[in-house]
Amino acid sequence: MKFSIFSIAACSHDFAFPRSNGEGRYSQVCRLCGAEYEYDWQAMRRKKRISASNEEQSV
Ligand SMILES: [Zn+2]
Repeated sequence: MKFSIFSIAACSHDFAFPRSNGEGRYSQVCRLCGAEYEYDWQAMRRKKRISASNEEQSV
Protein backbone atom coordinates (compact mmCIF):
# COMPACT_ATOMS: atom_id res chain seq x y z
CA MET A 1 0.00 0.00 0.00
CA LYS A 2 2.05 2.88 -1.26
CA PHE A 3 -0.52 5.64 -0.96
CA SER A 4 -0.58 5.86 2.78
CA ILE A 5 -0.82 9.03 4.82
CA PHE A 6 2.94 8.95 5.13
CA SER A 7 3.50 9.26 1.41
CA ILE A 8 1.48 12.47 1.52
CA ALA A 9 2.88 13.97 4.68
CA ALA A 10 6.49 13.10 4.03
CA CYS A 11 6.95 11.64 0.63
CA SER A 12 10.36 10.15 0.05
CA HIS A 13 9.88 10.88 -3.66
CA ASP A 14 10.40 8.07 -6.06
CA PHE A 15 11.06 9.92 -9.28
CA ALA A 16 10.43 8.56 -12.69
CA PHE A 17 12.91 9.11 -15.47
CA PRO A 18 13.08 12.78 -16.49
CA ARG A 19 10.94 13.58 -19.48
CA SER A 20 11.14 16.31 -22.06
CA ASN A 21 8.33 18.79 -22.44
CA GLY A 22 9.23 19.28 -26.08
CA GLU A 23 10.83 22.66 -25.59
CA GLY A 24 14.27 21.50 -24.58
CA ARG A 25 13.30 21.50 -20.94
CA TYR A 26 12.81 18.54 -18.71
CA SER A 27 10.69 17.67 -15.76
CA GLN A 28 10.66 14.82 -13.32
CA VAL A 29 7.57 13.50 -11.64
CA CYS A 30 7.33 11.61 -8.39
CA ARG A 31 5.53 8.34 -8.93
CA LEU A 32 4.26 8.35 -5.37
CA CYS A 33 2.77 11.79 -4.80
CA GLY A 34 2.69 13.15 -8.34
CA ALA A 35 4.75 16.23 -7.56
CA GLU A 36 6.45 17.61 -10.63
CA TYR A 37 9.86 19.23 -10.58
CA GLU A 38 11.83 21.07 -13.16
CA TYR A 39 14.88 19.05 -14.12
CA ASP A 40 18.21 20.40 -15.25
CA TRP A 41 19.35 17.80 -17.72
CA GLN A 42 22.87 19.17 -18.06
CA ALA A 43 23.45 19.48 -14.34
CA MET A 44 21.65 16.15 -13.80
CA ARG A 45 19.66 17.42 -10.90
CA ARG A 46 16.23 18.57 -9.98
CA LYS A 47 15.36 22.19 -9.60
CA LYS A 48 12.27 23.94 -8.36
CA ARG A 49 8.90 22.36 -8.04
CA ILE A 50 6.57 22.96 -10.95
CA SER A 51 3.28 21.58 -9.76
CA ALA A 52 1.99 20.22 -6.54
CA SER A 53 0.04 17.02 -6.33
CA ASN A 54 -3.17 18.57 -5.05
CA GLU A 55 -2.67 21.03 -2.27
CA GLU A 56 -1.06 23.85 -4.21
CA GLN A 57 -3.01 24.77 -7.27
CA SER A 58 -2.15 28.43 -7.56
CA VAL A 59 -1.72 29.76 -11.06
ZN1 LIG B 1 6.78 12.30 -3.84
